[in-house]
Amino acid sequence: MSPHHYHPIGIDIHQALVPHIPVSPDLLLVEATLVMSKARGQFCTRVQANHSSNLMTLSEEASSCVLIVEEDGYLIGVLTEHDFVKFAAQQVNLYEVTVGEVMTENPIVIKYEDLTDLFFAYNLMRRHSIRHLPVVDAKNCPLGVVSMSSLRQTLNLTYFLRFRRIAEVMNYTPIVVPPHTDIIDIAQMMERHHISSVIVIDDQAVGLYPIGLVTERDIVQLQSLGLDFSKLKVADVMSTPVFCLSPETSLAEAQLQMESRRIRRIPIVDGEGELVGILSQSNLAQVLDPMEVYGIVEILHHRVSQLELARLQLLQTQENNLIKGLQHNEFELYYQPQYNLNQAGELHGLEALIRWKHPHRGYISPNEFLPLAESTGFILQLGEWVIRQACLQMVSWQQQASPVFVPPSSLSVNVSISQLDVDNFVEKFEQILAETGCRAEWIVIELTESTLVSDVGTTVATFQRLRQLGTRIAIDDFGSGYASLGYVQHFPFDILKIDRDFIQGIDLNTKTATIASSIIQMAHRLGLCVIAEGVETEAERDFLQQCNCDVVQGFLYGRPEPAQEVIRHFSPSSQVA
Ligand code: C2E
Ligand code: MG
Ligand code: MG
Repeated sequence: MSPHHYHPIGIDIHQALVPHIPVSPDLLLVEATLVMSKARGQFCTRVQANHSSNLMTLSEEASSCVLIVEEDGYLIGVLTEHDFVKFAAQQVNLYEVTVGEVMTENPIVIKYEDLTDLFFAYNLMRRHSIRHLPVVDAKNCPLGVVSMSSLRQTLNLTYFLRFRRIAEVMNYTPIVVPPHTDIIDIAQMMERHHISSVIVIDDQAVGLYPIGLVTERDIVQLQSLGLDFSKLKVADVMSTPVFCLSPETSLAEAQLQMESRRIRRIPIVDGEGELVGILSQSNLAQVLDPMEVYGIVEILHHRVSQLELARLQLLQTQENNLIKGLQHNEFELYYQPQYNLNQAGELHGLEALIRWKHPHRGYISPNEFLPLAESTGFILQLGEWVIRQACLQMVSWQQQASPVFVPPSSLSVNVSISQLDVDNFVEKFEQILAETGCRAEWIVIELTESTLVSDVGTTVATFQRLRQLGTRIAIDDFGSGYASLGYVQHFPFDILKIDRDFIQGIDLNTKTATIASSIIQMAHRLGLCVIAEGVETEAERDFLQQCNCDVVQGFLYGRPEPAQEVIRHFSPSSQVA
């Protein structure tokens, strides 16, 4: 991307320009759903477009569009979430149709050099009723996308929203449906009315009382997970409970709630809880007054550049701290037990999870430092340390094995896709096994689903070599990136770990229950062992048992603990701790 240039008045326009996802026209639609949801991945989200060598880091936000480019990089079309709802409505087979056959050709775009005025971009989008505006260079090669939500974030709206009420901008005619509506009908309705959500209402009550919400994103999620939703009803998949606000609430409050709850629309109800309208993110943007905006951003701009500098300095120091941390032995592996859900309910295995004992800050979670380790490449060194440490530990436990000390037969190690991408990963792994005396069968390698998109061919070859050694492979966080089982089947692996998001409250939430139980059934048909992550309550465990889930892991059975403590699970009678 070209260097930042600042708007004469002071907005850094390029904050509104977010990385795009280039795909080739011959990509299958099902792969496109995957690529779109991939943008939601956690840290090592690198997407390698089908044919370009364009590697990039994506934001945490889900991307609601893909750009279709030709081999030479020219933009030829776009596809948005809304298009996928249309495909659902028309029951298009996503495995048979390519992106190029159905994309919107010659989309409305803006030239990079014309992107000097965000209001120009904003008005262009409103005029054409589009939510994504590709930004292209002189040769029509895409440089990024301006989206409604990136615009909104760039022009920090809070200031303008303070004195405005929801009633001023909300949509007074939301589409409502009863809970027994077919999902297919919902998709058709969304397509027909050009809306991105429907409100589910209680059909037992007199009056319109919202009980759930179904959005475009839900439909894309069902599609990408490969679920047969022709049989599903709204009640099975709606998000519930719904968060509602009153028309009198300030827009600033509404925006705050949307951000903290990560939702994009809010049903609006009166004092009795009856539905009066719906507020969406795009309604929020309607209150912008250009003159006001320019005045305030000038002040903000100075503040932002100061913060940016401070952030860069902080990152630099933190990376040095990570390197020093490894030298000074500040990393430690914790271990979390996994239990079989069969009659015996014995210990199945352990998962090794890294911790950083920071000299001043105490224990730091991997979610905090792994993204930095990923982006700087330090993960390679750290990852090797993790594997060696895990092998040493396993060998030491196996050597102590006795009738009263029964270590588990497997230890799972999380490996980042960038470690696997390095040519000699398997050789390195074999070398560590030989050095430590660890057997390949004792180790399970976990890879997060949302990173699997990168280079399929090489990844498959690496998996095969690892499995030949006897090491098993687990796909971690399944469901979090919305990959379908059909897709992950391209990779030879042994264990499927269902993401915590689908387990939490599974006994109470029909949507996650439907999804999780179909995943378990499909996985069993493929001969995979299924592990449920993040099991916290007995009710969740009982539900999973009913669904024939094989193994559970979570706080109910034990938190991750240091090696000397986790061994209390190694007694022959060890059941639920
Ligand atoms: P993960 O591999 O999916 O690990 C499971 C995470 O869920 C762990 O977080 C664990 O502490 C947490 N967890 C387990 N049971 C429960 C539960 O019942 N409730 C809740 N709320 N959480 C539960 P942790 O240790 O913070 O690790 C976060 C992520 O960092 C891991 O997710 C993994 O992706 C990554 N990670 C951890 N260690 C390593 C490592 O050595 N190498 C690499 N590459 N990644 C690692
Ligand atoms: Mg894991
Ligand atoms: Mg996980």
